[in-house]
Amino acid sequence: MSPPLLQVNDLKKHFPVSKGLFGRKSEWVYAVDGVSFEIARGETLSLVGESGCGKSTVGRAILRLFDITSGQVILDGQRIDDAHPSTMRQMRRRVQVVFQDPFSSLNPRMRVRDILAEPIRNFGLAKSAEDLEVRVTALMDTVRLPREALNRRPHEFSGGQRQRIGIARALAAEPELIVCDEAVSALDVSVKAQIVNLLQDLQQKFGLALLFISHDLAIVEHMTHRVAVMYLGKIVEVAPRREIFAAPRHPYTKALLSAVPLPEPGAQRNPIILGGDVPSPINPPSGCRFHTRCPYVFDRCRTEEPQLRAAEGDQWVACHLDALPAG
Ligand code: SF4
Repeated sequence: MSPPLLQVNDLKKHFPVSKGLFGRKSEWVYAVDGVSFEIARGETLSLVGESGCGKSTVGRAILRLFDITSGQVILDGQRIDDAHPSTMRQMRRRVQVVFQDPFSSLNPRMRVRDILAEPIRNFGLAKSAEDLEVRVTALMDTVRLPREALNRRPHEFSGGQRQRIGIARALAAEPELIVCDEAVSALDVSVKAQIVNLLQDLQQKFGLALLFISHDLAIVEHMTHRVAVMYLGKIVEVAPRREIFAAPRHPYTKALLSAVPLPEPGAQRNPIILGGDVPSPINPPSGCRFHTRCPYVFDRCRTEEPQLRAAEGDQWVACHLDALPAG
């Protein structure tokens, strides 16, 4: 078996917050608190969970938009969490991002031609001015935008077209992994499907790995290979798409999936309504972090943290119930 393209080992990111009149007393937001997973070449792993669960922080840590608190991020066998700036330059080329809001991530003053040319120039990928032009026009073809649009600026495009420009800009660097951070969440349903289809086609064509960060499980079900479910800074379940959607094991995953509409008209799942609010990541609950909302909570859950362990097949679950002997 070939080694994974990306390995994330026990990743933690804690942010300080100031408290008190003079901001002297510090507390910590445990945004990501011990997350591990792998992504193979050409694979899509979806990171899902409610807003504030830490999934976008994981994506940003992989992109090294900030220093992590502890843990390891390894790309193709090489640590990037503490890489020297000279190594990091090549690593940055290999891992690109598509953000949720292409309008704020694209420079409004730049023409599309320059937006796409910038990463090609920065990473020294073009051999000549002609080669640069060939690459830029090829990117427009790849994301199915007209070449005539190269001289336009971002505000002259629709939301879906702008997201295609964001994808083209990511592809311009010839990456091996793209972090899609809620990349289709702001789009209309039909446009969403088009962008997801485009990402799938590009994955096939270029052998790309995708880390697809999303709260939209209906979209995830359509396009992912595996799913990792996060709750309050931790992964509670990881499994291949088919297994997790057919038979989720963790009580939180069950509740999340019960809200996903079924494709058949009129068909409904039995929704599981969770009590209480998501606790604060400043002061997460002891033991299992989900115990304050879990319908199956028992004494052990309040004191002992469940570890992520192999359940069936390639399904991994962090729940004491899963570790109980059958019967
Ligand atoms: Fe629920 Fe306990 Fe399992 Fe946590 S460990 S999900 S509280 S049953």
